[in-house]
Amino acid sequence: MLSDLFVNATILISFIFLSSQIFKRNFLNLSVSYKNKFLFGLTQGILGVILMLFTIQVTPNVIMDFRHIAILLAALYGGGFASIITGITIAIFRIIYFGVSTPAIIASINMFNMAIACALLSKLKLNQFKKWVYMNFVSSLIITSSFLLIIKNVILLRQTLVYFWLGSFIIGILAYYISNYMNTSINLLNRLEQESTIDFLTGLNNVRQFDNSLNESFVNVKNKNERLSILIIDIDFFKKVNDTYGHLAGDSVLQQLGIIFSTFCRSFDIVSRIGGEEFSVILPDCPSLQAIEVAERLRVAVETHKFIISDEIKINISVSIGAATYPDNVFDLEDLIREADNALYSAKHSGRNKVCQP
Ligand code: GH3
Ligand code: MG
Ligand code: MG
Repeated sequence: MLSDLFVNATILISFIFLSSQIFKRNFLNLSVSYKNKFLFGLTQGILGVILMLFTIQVTPNVIMDFRHIAILLAALYGGGFASIITGITIAIFRIIYFGVSTPAIIASINMFNMAIACALLSKLKLNQFKKWVYMNFVSSLIITSSFLLIIKNVILLRQTLVYFWLGSFIIGILAYYISNYMNTSINLLNRLEQESTIDFLTGLNNVRQFDNSLNESFVNVKNKNERLSILIIDIDFFKKVNDTYGHLAGDSVLQQLGIIFSTFCRSFDIVSRIGGEEFSVILPDCPSLQAIEVAERLRVAVETHKFIISDEIKINISVSIGAATYPDNVFDLEDLIREADNALYSAKHSGRNKVCQP
């Protein structure tokens, strides 16, 4: 029995690792999307089924394993809905695979009861560990009631209960720590990935992501024989905004500007903040005439916008924009940025609040 318990524990641990890899991108969304909750519940149901396939045969009709941990995992990370999906999956499989018998029916009903109990417990306002301990305790009680009903031999019953409660306690704690560890690592990794590409102030792409996107767009454009334009945008006299209203007000202007740029560009244009008060827009499949039109649209949108500094103070600012287009007026990638920069320089030195191109 001990070696079977060990096999159950190793399956469980490997599966927690696997399912955390499958749900890597969606782990944070589990709480909002029913599709993800359903898929997570189903995955945990499959875990329950695999645990059952490597079950411990107590008597010809009675089996013991830790499939209830699958329901606990579903409830803890996916909530009530996922827990019920897991419960139903396991209950159906128990009857189909092991055949209809009184123990099978009792076990299936209990799986469903357990799923409901865990669904309710997952709603409690407790920390994750306490929820887990309560869910494990209640589930173990429900399974104990099945054993009490089914196993008539007192010695066998006592032995089964000792192994079950000991195993449930040890494997339960292990499963909690490993799943919690995986969850925390994935959250950290997701955050790190996001922070390495997103500008924290405006939520736009940062300069690193801008470089990646520009390289990608350039390869695409060369392959498809299209045109690629780029705009470099710099706020006019921004130092004065900071000096007059303070750095925080300046930050708020940068945020509002980010929203304007995102709103006035096409959905597939790539807007980035590439420096303190410098932005860029990559315009895939965009010839130079159209790039000037987009730039002009952005310039006018900024010029006419009232930037909110406080309830009483609203200000106007302007931007200067340099535009360049491959292959209309530059012939390779480095030239694209350099020429857009030069055009911006020209815009600054010929009066600001204007769009220039090479
Ligand atoms: P110009 O029209 O020539 O571009 O004038 P300017 O004042 O905008 O240009 P300059 O390069 O002299 O100043 C840029 C200013 O942008 C200086 C700096 O205080 C401000 N700045 C840079 N990054 C940030 C930021 O993250 N937040 C805020 N609030 N200000 C910033
Ligand atoms: Mg600048
Ligand atoms: Mg400036």
